[in-house]
Amino acid sequence: MTEKKYDVVIIGSGPAGMTAAMYTARSEMKTLLLERGVPGGQMNNTAEIENYPGYETIMGPELSMKMAEPLEGLGVENAYGFVTGIEDHGDYKKIITEDDEFITKSIIIATGANHRKLEIPGEEEYGARGVSYCAVCDGAFFRNQEILVIGGGDSAVEEALYLTRFGQSVTIMHRRDKLRAQEIIQQRAFKEEKINFIWDSVPMEIKGDDKKIQSVVYKNVKTGEVTEKAFGGIFIYVGLDPVAEFVSDLGITDEAGWIITDDHMRTNIPGIFAVGDVRQKDFRQITTAVGDGAQAAQEAYKFVVELG
Ligand code: NAP
Repeated sequence: MTEKKYDVVIIGSGPAGMTAAMYTARSEMKTLLLERGVPGGQMNNTAEIENYPGYETIMGPELSMKMAEPLEGLGVENAYGFVTGIEDHGDYKKIITEDDEFITKSIIIATGANHRKLEIPGEEEYGARGVSYCAVCDGAFFRNQEILVIGGGDSAVEEALYLTRFGQSVTIMHRRDKLRAQEIIQQRAFKEEKINFIWDSVPMEIKGDDKKIQSVVYKNVKTGEVTEKAFGGIFIYVGLDPVAEFVSDLGITDEAGWIITDDHMRTNIPGIFAVGDVRQKDFRQITTAVGDGAQAAQEAYKFVVELG
């Protein structure tokens, strides 16, 4: 086990974490970006991004690369690890991963959120055999097939639009009769001939054979009617859960597990900041994540300078 000392360790390399790293490195703080996968976070699961300034449209994985590339030149160190706990010792903090430990003066938590699961029969069983949470990764496997998308938020509707380039048809199933997605995205979906809607309905079971899914059983929540319909693939976008179990003993999360901060991205533990989707906040966007990252970097810099 090695023990390494930093001014700041940023946990998570989505847009919030990468922006924080850019700013802390430019402030000449000794910066470690600790991640458990490839840089980009949820951006890697996003097809076309149309609301990031400077780009009319850009694929999520490409924007991830563009954010990651300059960091090495700025001297940001990288490490891979799954964080299991954080210890606060006042003037220093310890980050514990499955096989390493890092000592740091400050921490910026940017671990984002995971796709929520439906937790219905067949979902687990047909993972990678027709059930997906990532249209940009798996969409092309469903060429000329009937595709089902579950959810009514921005992700479900945007990714349904993306999937129309592959599927013979794309059906959006939503548990209410009104979408949650932004108006511009909704209108685009309503105009798209390949997109159908099943309203007021929730999936109950995903059925298939030994190779792949064949159908979805769903229930109309208003009438109670149960229907089984054939689909070649199902994409699930029913929201996000925070990735913050490793701080569950620190008293910095709300009852749902999102990390509570003030406007300066400070948690109630001095020197521990949180940014991006993992924060308790209203508006989860790449643009707001980037803003959080810059703010937290500034606050971490001030904290470390005052610490001496
Ligand atoms: P979301 O906004 O939380 O939407 C989740 C959707 O799934 C809702 O329509 C919800 O229904 C439905 N749902 C939740 N649990 C369900 C269940 N058990 N069964 C069936 N349906 C269920 O999540 P998201 O779309 O993944 O977006 C997450 C965040 O990222 C949001 O803040 C979103 O604005 C942001 N985002 C932004 C963009 C963009 O700006 N272009 C793109 C993607 C995501 P109800 O509506 O009835 O609650």
